[in-house]
Amino acid sequence: MLCHLQQEGITLEEVRADVAIIGGGVMGPSVAYHLRNLNLARDVVVFEQDPLHMHSSTGLSAGGIRQLFSTPANIALARWSVEFYRRFPEVMATAQGPGPDVGFRQNGYLFLLDKANESALLRRADYQEAHGVELERLSPAQVKERYPELATDDLTGGIFGVEAGFLDPYQVMRGFTDKARELGVRFVPEEAVAIETFQGRVQAVSSANVRVQADVVVNAAGAWAGKVGRLAGVDVPIVPKARQIYICDVPEDRFGNYPLTVDPTGFYFRPEAGGRVLCGKAFDDDPEDFVWDWNRGLFQDAIWPDLATRVPMLERLHLGNGWCGLYEVTPDDNAIIGPHPDLRGFQIIAGFSGHGMMQGPAAGLALAEIIGHGAARSVDVEGLDLARFAEGRLIQEDAVV
Ligand SMILES: Cc1cc2nc3c(=O)[nH]c(=O)nc-3n(C[C@H](O)[C@H](O)[C@H](O)COP(=O)(O)OP(=O)(O)OC[C@H]3O[C@@H](n4cnc5c(N)ncnc54)[C@H](O)[C@@H]3O)c2cc1C
Repeated sequence: MLCHLQQEGITLEEVRADVAIIGGGVMGPSVAYHLRNLNLARDVVVFEQDPLHMHSSTGLSAGGIRQLFSTPANIALARWSVEFYRRFPEVMATAQGPGPDVGFRQNGYLFLLDKANESALLRRADYQEAHGVELERLSPAQVKERYPELATDDLTGGIFGVEAGFLDPYQVMRGFTDKARELGVRFVPEEAVAIETFQGRVQAVSSANVRVQADVVVNAAGAWAGKVGRLAGVDVPIVPKARQIYICDVPEDRFGNYPLTVDPTGFYFRPEAGGRVLCGKAFDDDPEDFVWDWNRGLFQDAIWPDLATRVPMLERLHLGNGWCGLYEVTPDDNAIIGPHPDLRGFQIIAGFSGHGMMQGPAAGLALAEIIGHGAARSVDVEGLDLARFAEGRLIQEDAVV
């Protein structure tokens, strides 16, 4: 239903929908796609304040995809999503042709082991295998044989996630958005500025020009999810954390077959288009703020020395460009998927704390099923509810990069 309201000279478009979604990164369009694809909702509207995605985490992500987690829900979300990414262009095909090529390269995901992290990572590997993740335990000699540019003297081995890899996050978002649009989802390129509630349940979401009445409002606002919670008068414990990415020109193009490799010191690197290398590292004192300033000096002082120790050839790299993006962090570094216990109709899919690309397809399905059926049926998301924080059931996930 569509009509127009005259409000003090402003024409506000009034829309009735089954579900209003705030956030058009990977999560919002993923939920919208699954809702329509499974016919779990008819009218779905997505608000996105930054339609060029200058600041959304999805467009600024490193795109690493792995299944090496240490809780059943995280493993299930990641495994389902890997299968989905394999078929992405086919599943996201529209009348215009195949969905975008997300460049999913299954080069694997390699955690390097040393004396300090070895026992924890090997324990985790046993657990992952028991949950169906395909992995290999590599000796230092095997690491060296496969990846000769790595210095392995101090290593005790590696855990290699076979089906993992990396992809282009922006294209994932574009695929979900285009497909959702074809399935009838409407995208409003405006900031949601108000959420109306009445007697403990959501009623409507408004932007400057559009008001959507809906019984279900989805908070898919990533690092802004805490702010969106406040619009509805409820607490959603998610804060931004600024993380840096560096793109390096390397002396020789030798890294094309490398997996996303995580060093015991915490930095990670992977091949990037054009024979370059992408790398980054999470620091405890990264700013907890909405800032996107690229910190070039941090690379020189705090990453390059370790990188050049592990990959001696990279002593001669040239730092090209890079960027800063926001992790969307919860108190236990794990996502929130499901209803807000204090506000009926208010659903959350946010706080992926740096692993949203590897979970986005399955997480969107899980939330669509929660909205449509009252529970996730296809993927186990047990334990990722918001109530865990108040009830002291924090997730112990030690595989956070
Ligand atoms: C540097 C970096 C590296 C990363 N590396 C990886 C990786 O290797 N692998 C991996 O899996 N994940 C990685 N991540 C994490 C991953 O990118 C995120 O978990 C994921 O993109 C989150 O998606 P989202 O849709 O929740 O958030 P976003 O993509 O941020 O989307 C939320 C959207 O909501 C919009 N919004 C907010 N408030 C409003 C409002 N009031 N009205 C309208 N719109 C609003 C925002 O504009 C934004 O576009 C990385 C993230 C960063 C920053």
